[in-house]
Amino acid sequence: MFYKGLIEKYRKFLPVTEQTPIISLHEGNTPLIKARNLPTQIGLIGEIYFKFEGMNPTGSFKDRGMTMAVSKAVEARSKAVVCASTGNTSASAAAYAARAGVKCVVLIPEGKIALGKLSQAVMHGAEVLEIDGNFDDALDFARELSVKYRLTLVNSVNPFRIEGQKTASYEICESLKQSPDYQFMPVGNAGNITAYWKGYKDYNKAEPSKYALPKMMGFQAAGSAPIVEGRPIAKPETIATAIRIGNPASWKTAEEARDESRGVIDKVTDDEILEAYRIVAATEGIFCEPASASSIAGLIKYVRQGYFKNNEPIKVVCVLTGHGLKDPDTAVATAVKPKKVKANMKDIIDAIGL
Ligand SMILES: *Cc1c(COP(=O)(O)O)cnc(C)c1O
Repeated sequence: MFYKGLIEKYRKFLPVTEQTPIISLHEGNTPLIKARNLPTQIGLIGEIYFKFEGMNPTGSFKDRGMTMAVSKAVEARSKAVVCASTGNTSASAAAYAARAGVKCVVLIPEGKIALGKLSQAVMHGAEVLEIDGNFDDALDFARELSVKYRLTLVNSVNPFRIEGQKTASYEICESLKQSPDYQFMPVGNAGNITAYWKGYKDYNKAEPSKYALPKMMGFQAAGSAPIVEGRPIAKPETIATAIRIGNPASWKTAEEARDESRGVIDKVTDDEILEAYRIVAATEGIFCEPASASSIAGLIKYVRQGYFKNNEPIKVVCVLTGHGLKDPDTAVATAVKPKKVKANMKDIIDAIGL
């Protein structure tokens, strides 16, 4: 049967009824791609898989949560949805709101919104307001708008978002026919690590012998690593704008995922993120956005540290949360520039180095 999105597929695991109008762009069902070159290159014994969430309709995993959040908002006869966003949430909210025919209000923090994400929000007709403050300030205003003016808040504090996002774990379990041993992923507002852990626990509960619980390995950017530092960061900084968050809304549940799974939440520097961002593009043919590459940066860091001690082959999943085309400026600014050559074959051959 042809795929109609994750709510139809996982209806029995989700808080929807026959009365819920399903607002879908056929999100989910993203590829789990096995790495060909990375294990040898970084010296990992085992298999690495990329869950490429950049293949969702608006180019990030946010669509998994948004199909649920917007469907439930329409069911509740909400006239408008609101979110604070570093970019991908607004792109997704704007698209699903457009499809549902409800208004979308987006509060973005000052500066540094990736070009692709902004272009999506404006094309889908959202009311985009740049707040002169950081993400956490924008989220406070969005919360207040939802409480006092009855707009539906579609940030990951909306519990339906987490419900939709947990389906990524189901897909991984089904693709591998088991759960991975480790899952590496970025951590920003920490809704996604919360959601994945919930999903893995669902499958574990249903069939414990088949689906063991993976260790959850979450990575923040060093300049905005509140969970690692154990305190909110007033002025979070990182090139990975999707995880530039100083006071994560799902802080507590992220720590629970870490502790219950006996995993870690650690940090990686912007240099490590950019290195991983280039490696996965150049050696695996997968272009993800900088924030997504923090999962691979974390894996590289842990291999180098000798974290995987015994030589048992392991299965690792790295979640690549968003598509590289979201943030073309970072790619162009950090990559090698195209060479300029005269329009003759000799110069072209010389430049290629044939
Ligand atoms: C939102 C986002 C994150 C962070 O997810 P959280 O649920 O906030 O931890 C990471 N990468 C990308 C591309 C995102 O859009």
